[in-house]
Amino acid sequence: MEGDEEDEGVLLYYKYTDTEVESLGGREGLRRWYEDTCGAKGLVGRVRVARDGINATLGGTMAKLRLHCVELAGFEGFEGIDYKLARSPGSLNEAVEVESGFDQLSVQLTEEVVSLGPRAVGVHCEKGGKHLKPLDFHRMLSEADGEEEVVLIDVRNVYESRIGNFQCDGVETLLPATRTFNQFPRWVDSVENDLRDKKIMMYCTGGVRCEKASAYIKSKGPAFSNCFQLSGGIQRYLEAFPDDGGYFRGKNFVFDSRSSVPPERHGGAIISKCASCGRLHDDYGQRVRCDYCRLLLLLCPACLEEAGDANTKRYCEVCRAGSVGPADALGALGGLRLLCLHGFRQTAKSFRGRTAALRKRMKTVGFEYLDAPFTMDAAASGGAGGRRSWHPAPKGSEGSELRLDGALAEGFAMMGEAGGGWQVSRRYLKDRIEASGPFDGILAFSQGAALVCAALAHGDRLGGIKFVVLCSGYRPDDTPPIRGYLEVPSLHIFGGSDKQVPLERSEDLAEAFHPSTRSILRHNMGHIIPSSKTYVTDYARVIASFLEG
Ligand SMILES: [Zn+2]
Ligand SMILES: [Zn+2]
Repeated sequence: MEGDEEDEGVLLYYKYTDTEVESLGGREGLRRWYEDTCGAKGLVGRVRVARDGINATLGGTMAKLRLHCVELAGFEGFEGIDYKLARSPGSLNEAVEVESGFDQLSVQLTEEVVSLGPRAVGVHCEKGGKHLKPLDFHRMLSEADGEEEVVLIDVRNVYESRIGNFQCDGVETLLPATRTFNQFPRWVDSVENDLRDKKIMMYCTGGVRCEKASAYIKSKGPAFSNCFQLSGGIQRYLEAFPDDGGYFRGKNFVFDSRSSVPPERHGGAIISKCASCGRLHDDYGQRVRCDYCRLLLLLCPACLEEAGDANTKRYCEVCRAGSVGPADALGALGGLRLLCLHGFRQTAKSFRGRTAALRKRMKTVGFEYLDAPFTMDAAASGGAGGRRSWHPAPKGSEGSELRLDGALAEGFAMMGEAGGGWQVSRRYLKDRIEASGPFDGILAFSQGAALVCAALAHGDRLGGIKFVVLCSGYRPDDTPPIRGYLEVPSLHIFGGSDKQVPLERSEDLAEAFHPSTRSILRHNMGHIIPSSKTYVTDYARVIASFLEG
C-alpha cells in the first residue's frame, strides 16, 4: 500500500526451516541478528528462534517491517515466507501491550516453533494436511453437501475460539476447549473415532499450529489422510473476505497488542458472552483471568464494577466443566518430585521441620531438601553454628564470614569459578539437579526463592522444571534485568504481615513472571508457608493446573 510507510503495523510470520544459519554462526547468531537488526529498527514484539524454525510477531512502522522482511529473505532457507503484514490501530491498552510483549523486543532460543508435547514426538509438519488457500478453503466449505462427512477443527485454545470461529451450515465445527496447544493431541486421541474416514478441515490464527496439528492427526493412519489446513490461517481468510468475514463469525484473537481483529469492513460480530451475566461481550481489554487456571475470561464492564474488591472467585468454562476439580487436585499431584530450597539462616533439616504440615497434607508428593553451600559462623547464626545461606554476602550478615563447605570450596577452586553473587549457588543447584533430578518443580522459601529468580534471570534451565512455588520471596538486587517475563509457571505465596520480606518485594518478584501462568496466593500471616487444609488445597489446585499445561 502506498503512503502508509510511517503507519504502525504488525507483522506475523513463521517458517519451519533449519535455523543453524552458517553465515551468522548458527542459531545463536541468528538470535543475535534478530536482536541487532530489529532493535536498530525500533521493532517490538516476540521472536522464537527454535531448532525447527522461526515464529515472529513484530510491531513497528510499516516501512521498517517491510525492510526486515527483505533482509531476512537474504538467508538461505528463509525464502518463500508468507509475511502477514497489516496496519495496526495501535495497542488496545497498556496491559495488553505489556502482556503481549509489545512494549519491548524479546528474541528467545527455544526447542520448537510450537510444541505439541510428548504425545507428538516424532511428528513432522512435512507430513501435515494439504494446504488450501482461503478461496479454496471457502469453496470446499460451500460445496459441502452432506454426502461426504466434513468436520472443521479449530486448532486454537478456548479463549481464542470463544470470540470467533468458523460456522457453516451442514458442517460441524469442533472446538477442542484446550487451555494450551500441547493439550491438543490428548483431545484428538479422545475424539479419534469421530474423525475416522471424514474430510477434516483445520484452521488456526496464522497457520503455524495447523502445520503440526494436522501432521499429528494424519499420523494416526490412512483413515485420517483426507486432511486439509487453511493456508495463512484466519488472518489470510479474513483478508480475502473483508466485507463479511465469509464463514468466519466474530473476531480473530491475536497475540499482539491489538488483542483481536475483525474483518476489515465489518467490525465483527460479538459471539461470546460475559462469564457472569451472560450478556454479549468479547473485549479482553480488562485482562480478567480464571481464578483457578489463569485463562483469560470475559467480564463485561458492569459485572467487573460490581465484582470490585469482593472476593468472588471466577472460573472459565473449562474449569466449570471440571477437568480437575478441587476434590481431586491433591490426587493429581501423585508421584510429583519437589526440590525444596530453604531460606537465609535455615538448613535443609530446619526447612524440613517447617514444612512438616505441608508434607503431611501432600503425602503423595516427594519433597527433597537441599542445603545451601555457604555456612555461617556461630556469631552470625545467633549462637548456633552451621546455619546456611545461598549468597556469600547477604544483607544482615555484615561483619561475619560465610564459608563454602570444604569439599565444595575445593571443587569451585578447581573450576576456577569466582564466588561472587549467586554464581556458586547457581552452579551448585545445576549440579545437584543433574545428580538427583529430574524434579517436577521447585519449592523455595525467602532467600531460596531469590536464588531461583537469579537463576531464571540468567537463563538457567533448572533441569526443565515445570513450575516454581515461591514463598515469601523477593527479587534480588544483583541479577541482570529481566527481558520480558520469566516463562516458568509460578505460584507465589506471601503474607501481609511478613516482617522479614515486605509484601511489596514479594509482589515485585511475582511481577517478573508471565501473568498467563502466574498465580498469587496472599495470606495475612507472617514469614511462613500457611499449611492449613484450605491453603494446601489451593496450592494443589494451582499446581495441578500447571501440570495440565
Ligand atoms: Zn456481565
Ligand atoms: Zn479456568
